[in-house]
Amino acid sequence: MQKLKVWFASSEVEPFAKTGGLADVAGSLPKALKELGVDIRVVMPKYGQIAKEFVSQMEFLGSCEVELSWRKQYCGIFKLEYGGVTFYFLDNEYYFFRESLYGLYEDGERFSFFCRAILDVLPIIDFKPDIIHLNDWQTGMVSLLLDAQYRSMGSGFYKRIHTLFTIHNLKYQGVFHKNILGDLLGLDWKCFNVDGVEFFDQINFLKAGLSYSSTLSTVSRTYAEEIKYDFYGEQLQDLIRRRSGDMYGIVNGIDCQVNDPRTDTRLYANYDIDDLSGKYENKRMLQRDLGLDVTNEVPIVSIVSRLVDQKGLDLVEYLFHELIGIGIQFVVLGTGDKRYEDFFSYAQGVYPGKVSANIKYDATLAQRIYAGSDMYLMPSLYEPCGLSQLFSMRYGTVPIVRETGGLKDTVIPYNKFTKEGTGFSFANYNAHEMKDAIARAVEVYKNKEDWRALIKTCMSQDFSWQHSAREYKALYEDMLRRFN
Ligand code: ADP
Repeated sequence: MQKLKVWFASSEVEPFAKTGGLADVAGSLPKALKELGVDIRVVMPKYGQIAKEFVSQMEFLGSCEVELSWRKQYCGIFKLEYGGVTFYFLDNEYYFFRESLYGLYEDGERFSFFCRAILDVLPIIDFKPDIIHLNDWQTGMVSLLLDAQYRSMGSGFYKRIHTLFTIHNLKYQGVFHKNILGDLLGLDWKCFNVDGVEFFDQINFLKAGLSYSSTLSTVSRTYAEEIKYDFYGEQLQDLIRRRSGDMYGIVNGIDCQVNDPRTDTRLYANYDIDDLSGKYENKRMLQRDLGLDVTNEVPIVSIVSRLVDQKGLDLVEYLFHELIGIGIQFVVLGTGDKRYEDFFSYAQGVYPGKVSANIKYDATLAQRIYAGSDMYLMPSLYEPCGLSQLFSMRYGTVPIVRETGGLKDTVIPYNKFTKEGTGFSFANYNAHEMKDAIARAVEVYKNKEDWRALIKTCMSQDFSWQHSAREYKALYEDMLRRFN
């Protein structure tokens, strides 16, 4: 049988450019699929943020002109082999040499360019995929372009290419003024209706992905169910319900080679499940570096996250003084809404030696926090999958989560009688329920033997991509059977 060919499109990929979990997935899932024999290639924008060490190794393959209605825009194509996977970078400095990856006034134009370029470069690099795997709104328009224009092109090149659209976060949809439909995407108004891309009289990129891709998926089973309901559906629940027969929930994995406490060079000390002394050393060093009291008497509860409402930070803010009163140290690393940045900075001032607020993006510190903490807090309002709880467990840090989305699917509630489970959880979005879960964790922490056993249970879980990559491969194969 011929190798399955997949063109994996993502607007961010670790280690090249990252704002959140999508980059982690795009950096690690293709590697796992490659190991399963899939000919998978990854495409992303060539941002100005990509480190020089990578840029200097890229090979220039050529260029093309991408048509955005009346504009013709240059698109350079670069290639880099990294970790056994081939990555393609689409270059246009006007669009991608910006101060941030997203959140800019012309995002509609920037990602219209990206979507069209994802398709245009294929004949140039001589790669005809069976499936284009799209991820989040930044790539959603590809399915519509394929349907409306590319599939019927005389060459027949695009005729048999099918699309899988994966939702990593339904909240971010890429909604822009309707004028871009004709003026940038060069599309006909007939797709501007409630079953197409129209969304409250605007254009919605994510909705294009949901409406026009042959198959849909999201990053956990529970989230795949939740988004059918008004509370989680972000005003797309009707469409999602309608397409639920085509929707799959496949939980994310993590790269267990890069994230290995035995070898991770970012840590202060390495350790493994049989010898946790390095973990305690990480805790001491973290406390020292962050200006916390150096002690093992109290647990460190930490958060590494975008500081936005989704992450349940209002619950933390609401009861913060009571949480510290339980007898914990608190560490946060993140950037985001000013409200939370200011609150955590203020809390550090109020509780010297007990609270450390690190308002920045710092991949090394993130890793040291995963390793040096005792508990990891994720009280999310919603969480498609969540990766931080997986990283924390991998490093023997016990998660405390709200039972939603992927958090519900990946953390098994601890049973103090049977001593089974991998973490502590609470059901309702309620600050006191969260406090209760933290208090339960602190009680177990006080029994050193039970706590050590719990750490080991967390570390022995398998969060590698092995299983989920197989599910993706099976889904790709199923798509080919159904649509060819
Ligand atoms: P989301 O995708 O919603 O942001 P995830 O838990 O899926 O949440 O993934 C977040 C990823 O981003 C994790 O790899 C986490 O370690 C990383 N991260 C978030 N904020 C920071 C930060 N300030 N510094 C370093 N890494 C961060």
